[in-house]
Amino acid sequence: MKIERVSDEHALYLRDESRSVGKADFIAFPVCDEDVLEALAFARTNGLAVTTQGGRTGLAAGAVPHGGLVLNLSRMDKVLGVERAEGSVLMRVQPGVLLVNLRKYVEGLRGTYGPLFFPPDPTETTASIGGMTACNASGARTYFYGPTRRYVEGLRVLLADGRSVTLRRGQQSASGRRLLLRCDDGSRLFLPLPSYRMPAVKNASGYYAAYGMDAVDLFVGSDGTLGIITEVLLRLEPLPAQIWECGLLLKTEKDALDLTKALRKNCSRLASIEFFDEGALRVLRERKARDASLSSLADVPEDVHSILFAEIHADSKEAAFAELEKASTCLSTCGGDPARTWFGWNAADIRRFKDFRHAVPESVNMLIDARRRKEPGITKLGTDMSVPDDCLYKVFAMYREGLAQLGLQSAVWGHIGNNHVHVNILPNSLEEYARAKELYGTWAKRVTSMGGAVSAEHGVGKLKASFLETMYGAAAIEEMRELKRTIDPAFMLNPGNLFGAKD
Ligand SMILES: Cc1cc2nc3c(=O)[nH]c(=O)nc-3n(C[C@H](O)[C@H](O)[C@H](O)COP(=O)(O)OP(=O)(O)OC[C@H]3O[C@@H](n4cnc5c(N)ncnc54)[C@H](O)[C@@H]3O)c2cc1C
Repeated sequence: MKIERVSDEHALYLRDESRSVGKADFIAFPVCDEDVLEALAFARTNGLAVTTQGGRTGLAAGAVPHGGLVLNLSRMDKVLGVERAEGSVLMRVQPGVLLVNLRKYVEGLRGTYGPLFFPPDPTETTASIGGMTACNASGARTYFYGPTRRYVEGLRVLLADGRSVTLRRGQQSASGRRLLLRCDDGSRLFLPLPSYRMPAVKNASGYYAAYGMDAVDLFVGSDGTLGIITEVLLRLEPLPAQIWECGLLLKTEKDALDLTKALRKNCSRLASIEFFDEGALRVLRERKARDASLSSLADVPEDVHSILFAEIHADSKEAAFAELEKASTCLSTCGGDPARTWFGWNAADIRRFKDFRHAVPESVNMLIDARRRKEPGITKLGTDMSVPDDCLYKVFAMYREGLAQLGLQSAVWGHIGNNHVHVNILPNSLEEYARAKELYGTWAKRVTSMGGAVSAEHGVGKLKASFLETMYGAAAIEEMRELKRTIDPAFMLNPGNLFGAKD
């Protein structure tokens, strides 16, 4: 494998979807474990930091290098095998397999194993399985199915010193808060696990730490700081016979919050409840008016303030229809008109809904890119925080109050079923950007006091390192550092992630 000096042609590999741009001296594109080990040996010999990359769709700058060697795993993109185990179908993949390709592969298994699917569904399907595992990615269906962690049955991880660890769920677990990690060469690592209690919300903030936890869970969601994941064993689920979706149009935000609450209470077969606010719909409308490629997307009537998308998963048409009726009843009790509901009954309709939902972040990113051409110092500030169910109204009030007080433009969307929306602040100037950053910091504190998480699905990466301290406190960060130091004493892997720039 060639380890190349970074040149202009590698500009793409210095950034991710957070739009942060880093720097690096070398880059390597391994295709197998031996290549990764060679790159790690090169980094150790030359005292280089290593930044691992998957699909670079991350939004927390986790894959953005701060010097040293970029290890881009996009060519480790093979499906290594499919097996049946204890009634489940498991799929072993290299980390560079993209979600979009994994889905096609799973579709092709239908003849042998019946209809299956992999539930985690980040909106950006060019995310890689390695990146999704490192961030414990989620998506809309996490409302019902949970995050990536739940579907990771095993891992192969290469450590900074070149040792490997092959893990299968249930085979290595902690004793209390101490984990004796058995490496493949028979050696052992005694890992002190942090003592904090994780919040009972959707969470991808810092290391997973719990009494008696499985070793697999330590690496899932570790932001690539503990090792390089070179194989993932995924569990697939039976595909529901009926997947329907509806778009519920609402005139006020309060109606949308009431409807979320009502759907959660009355419906049992919803895989997702997704939200788009007035600001998000406005950005989309404006782009649609200019961009012919979006002409197939549905027009949103001018009097619509918010849309909730709810996806129904059921075993029969009757069950799906009953669920739809319940959702319609909830809609009419929350100020909506069921006659205006958008329906999707088949794969083509659902594709159109997904295109609509994907076009929103894309349009916002394009808007910010245009503003950055005038003022390169600004970026979009997108939150990723979750709170407990009983704080849904409170957190929305907090967001609206802060945005109104500072007069900042925003577009809000996301996984409202999990009380987890992305508030995207869209600054026009450096001055607005500075105010927005401050506001984001105060929100992180208040969300923490509500029992929430500062990152629910994107991981902490480099951009949210200070919020991690807000959430857990300085002593907990020191415990995380201690864990990291035990497994990667030189802080070689993904420096800057979780702990900020000084490591
Ligand atoms: C439009 C858009 C919509 C999105 N929607 C969602 C969403 O709904 N839900 C969601 O969760 N995310 C979402 N994301 C964010 C992103 O897709 C996820 O964070 C995804 O998990 C990143 O995967 P990746 O392969 O691109 O990882 P990268 O960006 O390449 O890396 C992310 C992190 O993982 C580490 N990493 C990558 N591969 C490995 C490996 N093999 N071993 C160790 N560490 C590794 C990197 O070092 C980095 O820290 C969205 C992004 C965009 C642009």
